[in-house]
Amino acid sequence: MGKKFLKKREQREKKRIARERVETLFTLAERVFPYSPELANRYVEIALAVQRKAKIRLPRKWKRRYCKKCHSFLVPGKNARVRLRSKPYPHVVIKCLNCGHIMRYPYLREKKERRKA
Ligand SMILES: [Zn+2]
Repeated sequence: MGKKFLKKREQREKKRIARERVETLFTLAERVFPYSPELANRYVEIALAVQRKAKIRLPRKWKRRYCKKCHSFLVPGKNARVRLRSKPYPHVVIKCLNCGHIMRYPYLREKKERRKA
């Protein structure tokens, strides 16, 4: 029993650290992108590896900032095209300009989240 509890706590701590790492790596990616997109992409790869290993969810803030296919760090207006579409439901279309992959996200929820932030 006691051991089990310890293990659980240990796991929670590991996940907390992993989340911090992912946050740091994406923040770094955003910072270095203007002068080194390749380095930004490397940070994304590391962040995704950390995320996979710790089995955590990506923070909403960063979920849409990389290409699901080629894992490039995406900056709207630079290497990503962002369009709003209302049909068949309001959504955001993000196109990765590196590989052409298209991602769609519901829009209404995002609007609400933005207002909160
Ligand atoms: Zn891509």
